[in-house]
Amino acid sequence: MNLVFLGPPGSGKGTQAKRIAEKLNLFHLSTGDLLRGAVKDGTDLGKKAKAYMEAGELVPDELIVGIIEEKIASGELSNGYILDGFPRTVPQAEALKTMLKKNDSGLDKAVLIDVSDAEVIDRLSSRAKIEGRADDADESVVRNRLDVYKKQTQPIIDFYQNESILKKVDGEGDINDITTRLQDAITKQ
Ligand code: AMP
Repeated sequence: MNLVFLGPPGSGKGTQAKRIAEKLNLFHLSTGDLLRGAVKDGTDLGKKAKAYMEAGELVPDELIVGIIEEKIASGELSNGYILDGFPRTVPQAEALKTMLKKNDSGLDKAVLIDVSDAEVIDRLSSRAKIEGRADDADESVVRNRLDVYKKQTQPIIDFYQNESILKKVDGEGDINDITTRLQDAITKQ
């Protein structure tokens, strides 16, 4: 099973992707975690990504597409995966489609975790306090990340709708109920 998880920052996408990956025995690839690791380790990639991340902007498509290309080539994704945080733009979604096709592969489902704007803002401000994530701490950066999501990432919802693989799941309410809803949407429909 090859999945993409979509949702605004603060939708619980990362937490839920981790849970579902464990339950369904899929490889969980979070580009955000990968980039934060690279920044922490001071690698070339980290040095290139740092300023974009701190401003709540997306890193350039070529940079992130290159990473995914390497992951596909490494074989780490060959037994099924959840992509969490990628694709983030229509060009990334198109590049992914091309890369997978080259490997005679494709996506089974794109799962959108649906959460209202008000709930997202509420969750992001409490995450800033709990996790101390730099990009959650500054209100203007939080607002920018939401803007970036709306402008650059939301169009890929239509992209996957057109591919007929989009599944929308209500991302509000009890965390365990959300996991169950996601699992049902992925395995039953
Ligand atoms: P996330 O943890 O998914 O919210 O990602 C944190 C930050 O990493 C984002 O705000 C971007 O700066 C960067 N990032 C993660 N994934 C991508 C991507 N697919 N394309 C561009 N930038 C990304």
